[in-house]
Amino acid sequence: MVAPKAKPNKAHLALARYEKDHDLAILTQNIDGLHQLAGSKRVYEIHGSVQHYHCVRCHHPMELQELPHEGVPMCPKCGAVMKPDVVLYGEGLPEKDLYEGIEAVGRADVMIVGGTSLRVYPFAAIPEYFRGRYSLLINAEPTPMDANFDDVIREDIGDTLEAILS
Ligand SMILES: [Zn+2]
Repeated sequence: MVAPKAKPNKAHLALARYEKDHDLAILTQNIDGLHQLAGSKRVYEIHGSVQHYHCVRCHHPMELQELPHEGVPMCPKCGAVMKPDVVLYGEGLPEKDLYEGIEAVGRADVMIVGGTSLRVYPFAAIPEYFRGRYSLLINAEPTPMDANFDDVIREDIGDTLEAILS
């Protein structure tokens, strides 16, 4: 799951630039931490992040860069396995990021949803909390929720988001 050489794309960078002088919140299903790497500050990681780890026994927290590069990472305090803070099948979602992210959607004037099939719950239900003025969906393929948005753009998220935000 860890791809330490992955770099932020055009969309990550455009969002980080935009946040410098706009009130922007990002909710993501991705676990790669690339939004923060691009410079974004207000990011809600609904499925967690491979940048953060905790011990399965004593809950000691660690960051990806503190772990050894090979083998199964072990807890320096108690010797148990260190687990990435990502949501695996059958596990609950990180409640703090989920609730704060939903609250941000409920307060937003504008919502842009992009690069998602809107088929994986509960993430797909989050846009329903939007009460603002304008909503836009950017996705290359049709989704079951296209009709819920004011506008739909069927294009790649990277180029489109960069153009819209600039
Ligand atoms: Zn431990």
